[in-house]
Amino acid sequence: MQWINSSGLAAAMWAHAYLPMQHLNAENDERIKQEYLCPSIEDKKIGCLCISEPFAGCDIPSMRTTAVKEGDEWVLNGSKTFITNGV
Ligand SMILES: Cc1cc2nc3c(=O)[nH]c(=O)nc-3n(C[C@H](O)[C@H](O)[C@H](O)COP(=O)(O)OP(=O)(O)OC[C@H]3O[C@@H](n4cnc5c(N)ncnc54)[C@H](O)[C@@H]3O)c2cc1C
Repeated sequence: MQWINSSGLAAAMWAHAYLPMQHLNAENDERIKQEYLCPSIEDKKIGCLCISEPFAGCDIPSMRTTAVKEGDEWVLNGSKTFITNGV
């Protein structure tokens, strides 16, 4: 990617392959691997790392997004910004 001077494209691929997929693999959970890791390898899911928020950039403890388990589901509330592959 660097040959064509597109660091953005390289960053998008790096964010997909090295951020979430490493964690999904390290979880060593067969369900997680089947549901998320395999589709990521097959390009059916695209990974990203969603930390930055409008009011929390470097200051990660100020993150306001919550993930609350309700029955069998996780309910996410909050907003994110600057997320590579977020679109
Ligand atoms: C192209 C691009 C892609 C990105 N992709 C992602 C991504 O995939 N996932 C993701 O989570 N984020 C992503 N980011 C966000 C990036 O990680 C944030 O820009 C970074 O966390 C800094 O946050 P901020 O820009 O809000 O700066 P701020 O946190 O507002 O900081 C601004 C300045 O203030 C200083 N500062 C902040 N707090 C303090 C303090 N308490 N004391 C002293 N100085 C302080 C900082 O050092 C910095 O110089 C991306 C950003 C860009 C530009």
